[in-house]
Amino acid sequence: MRPDEIRFGPAPLGLAAGRGPVRVTWLGTAGFAIEHEGFVVLIDPYLTRASLGQCARGALVSDPEVLAAHVSRADAIVAGHAHFDHVLDVPTLARVTGARVFGSKSCARLCRAAGVHERQVVDVESSMGQSPVEAEVGPFALRFVPSAHSAFALGRVPFEGEIADCPELPLGVHEYRCGAVFSVDLRVAGRRLYHLGSAELIDAQARPGVDLLMLCVAGWTTTPRFAPRVLSALDPGVVLLSHWDNFFQPFSRGAAPLPAMKMGALVDALSAQSRGLAVGTLDHFGSLSL
Ligand SMILES: [Zn+2]
Repeated sequence: MRPDEIRFGPAPLGLAAGRGPVRVTWLGTAGFAIEHEGFVVLIDPYLTRASLGQCARGALVSDPEVLAAHVSRADAIVAGHAHFDHVLDVPTLARVTGARVFGSKSCARLCRAAGVHERQVVDVESSMGQSPVEAEVGPFALRFVPSAHSAFALGRVPFEGEIADCPELPLGVHEYRCGAVFSVDLRVAGRRLYHLGSAELIDAQARPGVDLLMLCVAGWTTTPRFAPRVLSALDPGVVLLSHWDNFFQPFSRGAAPLPAMKMGALVDALSAQSRGLAVGTLDHFGSLSL
């Protein structure tokens, strides 16, 4: 199934009419901008989209022009884990916007090394006691839920481990170590949104009753019972698929699926579990309101 065959349309889902007060915009890869009353939360914003050649050549740097073209405000930036396709642009966006950054120890180390002001950096991994860390950002209540990364690289999580203290920047792809993995549970305007940035989860950590689930596709085929576990743990009303596009290509090429995503099979697996479940995608910078 091609992505445009499962795209959100105004009529089938009744979501894209634009009347809800919460706007969700897909930034490509696992990236989203969530807006309400002028406040903006960015999740895993990866806009630079380094080419395969750039990734192979070595150290990666953010593209300030692309960032400036697509982000004008952020009050919080959330990093689910520290792979380059989730955090490369986080320090630059934090410096430009002044937003607080919420992420793992690895993410915090990266931000400090990149000169993000200490008062902006929130290490949700070290702050976590018995229960997940919670934070308020304007009208948003954020909850950082321990999660997991899919083991899609021959049964292993790619680039496991941590980004060390005071890393020498810029880093190469392999130096963006995964670090601790978090999902984010957002509550705003009576809605509950949940971001799963890798296709794995810790079932017992997730709470059911989500209005919109932003669900990572990449790696789902190697995760045991992914669809039934996600639906049982989160019981979403709507599933918005992400991290299925080829992020080695610039935005000008459009959102083309990465090879072997088997997105149609995932939609079938989700639909088989929950009849009538709304599942779809957006274009790059496409939005829905809820
Ligand atoms: Zn990853």
